[in-house]
Amino acid sequence: MEKFYKKISYLRFFTRGYEHYFFLLLFLAIFIGFLDAGSIALLYPMISVGFQINTESIPFYGILQYFSDLVPIGSFFVHLGIFFIILTITSLIFQIIYWKVAFILQKELIVQTKKSLFLKIDGNDYKFFVNSKQGDLLNLFNQSPYYIQLIYHILLSAAADFIIIIFIICMLFLVSPGGLILVLIGGGIFYIVTNAISNSISERLGRLQILSGQSENKVINEYITGIKSIKSLNVSHYWGSQYIQALQIYWDKFADFMFIQRIPILVINSLFLIIIGAIVLVLYIYYADDFISIIPIFGTFAVGLLRILPKATAMGNYKMELNNYFPHLVLVHSVLNERKYNLLKNGTQVCTGITSDIILENISFSYDHTKVLFHVSMIIPKGSMTALVGPSGSGKSTIANLLLRLYDPTEGRIIVNRRDLRDYDIHSYRNIVGYVSQDPFIFNGTIRENILFGGDFPETDIVYAAKLAHAHDFIMELPKGYDTLVGDQGITLSGGEKQRIVIARAMIRRPEFLILDEATSALDTISEAAVQKAIDQVAKECTTLVIAHRLTTVRNADKIVVIERGQIIEEGTHEELMERRGKYWAMNN
Ligand code: ADP
Repeated sequence: MEKFYKKISYLRFFTRGYEHYFFLLLFLAIFIGFLDAGSIALLYPMISVGFQINTESIPFYGILQYFSDLVPIGSFFVHLGIFFIILTITSLIFQIIYWKVAFILQKELIVQTKKSLFLKIDGNDYKFFVNSKQGDLLNLFNQSPYYIQLIYHILLSAAADFIIIIFIICMLFLVSPGGLILVLIGGGIFYIVTNAISNSISERLGRLQILSGQSENKVINEYITGIKSIKSLNVSHYWGSQYIQALQIYWDKFADFMFIQRIPILVINSLFLIIIGAIVLVLYIYYADDFISIIPIFGTFAVGLLRILPKATAMGNYKMELNNYFPHLVLVHSVLNERKYNLLKNGTQVCTGITSDIILENISFSYDHTKVLFHVSMIIPKGSMTALVGPSGSGKSTIANLLLRLYDPTEGRIIVNRRDLRDYDIHSYRNIVGYVSQDPFIFNGTIRENILFGGDFPETDIVYAAKLAHAHDFIMELPKGYDTLVGDQGITLSGGEKQRIVIARAMIRRPEFLILDEATSALDTISEAAVQKAIDQVAKECTTLVIAHRLTTVRNADKIVVIERGQIIEEGTHEELMERRGKYWAMNN
């Protein structure tokens, strides 16, 4: 019972704000049930009148006769027939309205869920994305909301069916309580059998589906992103076998499970005929002398059952499917309610620019449990170009991460405009910071869209930024200039071209503080020279931190800071450091 209430609370979570739809649908379903049962009930007097059997024992005969007499033309039978048609058509119209509303509701629920998921995930700290598998996230967005919408589709179908069943059962009870009891006993036995089969399978199937979806997505996602390395290193077979392993989690069991789920549906068709036959036999034995008198009852029951049985079978399937899909709902529910990854506290101060030096004051930092920065203190003077150099793994990118406020230092503080960085509203701070990384992110769109990157800037700004980034000339040589489409991840551009587009993207936002993290390290010498020119140019515009392990790129810096194993070991200009003959000098030789 507790499990049931829990499920209800999960279901309520997604439907908050949509209650009015449910009330409308409930009202429509009741109306449809009433009309359906009414139209089937009309068969009883129709058959009785048609065969002229016991017309006086027909329920509501008097009322029907009274209304029929009001119509001057046509016989009683014709009136009943027309009434039957009117009821059936009205029910059809209401069923159409019901499903129109139901699908609008489903659409609302899926869109709302996806929107909330995006907002929730986007609100997470950077750390969440570093720690999450891409495949899981794709699965969360693509599969789970779809199944949630299906859950409500099933519930709405089940509710409509259930209400019709109840109305028809009540109607059959009025027609013949004995006949109904007979039907209910048969139905009960059938329900118990199918329920036993389905219950155990469906939940297991649902959990497996999520697991397999996650692993399938993970493998395919990694395969597509890494396709260049995979093809060139000839390791497709490894990814093939990973994919096959992921497929086995669910699809190996698929055939068996689906087969077992199918059996009740196969049985039901034959069952219906068996039930009809059995009822005829029982009735014949019971009413041997007066068999003709039960034809109206029999006819009404046959049509009533014909309407009920597919719905009753569907109920069993609905239950299996619900169990199947419910884990998706639980997963999305838990993601939407998770607070774990909102560790960065947002400040209230609005950052509008850089007015003084940026100071790292005694900073230490750990990723989870590994300490990577130890009491780092450094100054990035306003308006100058500071370079941070050191071997790979020494903590340079970590400092960039802290300056971007993707993480907060474990100890110490970063001071911007004489204030702790944590006092600022993160978004206002990031608005004045530009960032260019080693692997430029280019999406499938035009060069213009890649420079704008969601921002709204005039054409003159685009050209200004591209010129500053030394990108304008090569862009103009492309067939469609700024409107040239670049492929997925910019595969039609060279590394240096991509990098300069990303620099233009940073510069169009006129950042006051620019961080270039190994912006040239993945490039060949020619591209590097072009990007270096771009960097030297843009560095004049703002306070700049250049991170590099190739020393040629930092000679022009106003100040060079050397870091090793998470500690600052030297700082000065190129000339000063060379003279000192310390680590920097050694790195240059
Ligand atoms: P650099 O930029 O100088 O090459 P990083 O700042 O990237 O160095 O890395 C410093 C250390 O932190 C390395 O030992 C690296 O393995 C570790 N590290 C970097 N990112 C993470 C992370 N997300 N989780 C755990 N450890 C990390």
